[in-house]
Amino acid sequence: MFAERVLSGMRPTGHLHLGHYHGVLKNWVRLQSEYPCFFFVADWHALTTHYETPDVIEQSVWDMVIDWLACGVDPNQATLFIQSKVPEHSELFLLLAMGTPLGWLERVPTYKDQIEKLKEKDLQTYGFLGYPLLQAADILIYRAQFVPVGEDQVPHVEMTREVARRFNYLYGREPGFEEKSLEAVKKLGSKRAKMYAELRVAFQERGDDEALEQAKALLQDAQSLSMADRERLFGFLEGARKIILPEPQALLTSASRMPGIDGQKMSKSYGNTIDIREKPEEVTRSIRTMPTDPARVRRTDPGDPARCPVWQLHTVYSDEDTKAWVQKECQSAGIGCLECKQPVIDAILAEQQPMFERAQMYLDDPSLLRSIIADGSDKARKVAQETMREVRESMGLAYD
Ligand code: SF4
Repeated sequence: MFAERVLSGMRPTGHLHLGHYHGVLKNWVRLQSEYPCFFFVADWHALTTHYETPDVIEQSVWDMVIDWLACGVDPNQATLFIQSKVPEHSELFLLLAMGTPLGWLERVPTYKDQIEKLKEKDLQTYGFLGYPLLQAADILIYRAQFVPVGEDQVPHVEMTREVARRFNYLYGREPGFEEKSLEAVKKLGSKRAKMYAELRVAFQERGDDEALEQAKALLQDAQSLSMADRERLFGFLEGARKIILPEPQALLTSASRMPGIDGQKMSKSYGNTIDIREKPEEVTRSIRTMPTDPARVRRTDPGDPARCPVWQLHTVYSDEDTKAWVQKECQSAGIGCLECKQPVIDAILAEQQPMFERAQMYLDDPSLLRSIIADGSDKARKVAQETMREVRESMGLAYD
């Protein structure tokens, strides 16, 4: 609403693998050239599940940033930072916690799922229950418009929207709001002011959603408004409240099809991963020892790619000709499995090559990495401080 900002984070709990690359990082690389992007290392989030083993987090933070950079995330285009270096996240989390009903947190589907899935950990903690609210604070503090998420994370964005709505409802009240809004309308210039008034009526009296969107776009483009007037006019459009924390939208990303070396989805918990910077000899070994169609016991037995995990990798890495070759030669026992695996090995190694090259620069000079994060954290902090100034003011906490 204020800027078309994108916010996304990742928890540092171990090495990143090619599933992260295909599922998240490729998407970040695309988004960074389309929007101002804020990408953060969610170290506090990692503590909600790894509070007993914080050393894992400490080791993973810098490695993870190197992996991001290796995959093409560009610090000249996106802002990269570490969550705990912007302590304002925790202040907003605390303030939002005051008015967030417990039921909202208990209802988040991933809450029960994760407790079930991570049975070996004791997650009956206050921190773990609160992590979707911490996520809401992460998003709202940057007034991000878009949050790239998979299907399973959509309820988190929905909850963030509810949290924002409640906050604006409770604290967006302002003495003389209507008079101040009418004054602000005049600052739009006569043509825009007239259009704004008409669109507002169309929305408020006839529920015309398109008019609401048009009015929002009009405000977005209006250079003549101060931040406070813009907030007022966004709020005035929909009711009698200032919009202090705008509601974000989920930017749905298609689920990653990246299979692991056993054919299941690539995931650390299945032990079937190939790390982003896995050594070439290890990649070769992992693929060469991958299970294939169980019916292909001997080289002369025909196989069925549909029952073979290697085929899953061909669907990600191979062109049409190679895939046709696999189908034909597997079913006629024209090739052996090692022969079939070679194009996959070659493709993964080729994909990794530029990643290794980019990572080397930061491994050779870690101070480069530190300064990228220091600059990014400073930049993020300035935005976060601006939001917190308004949040405190609206809650009556600005005493000086
Ligand atoms: S030839 Fe290829 S697709 Fe067929 S079983 Fe062997 S590895 Fe799998």
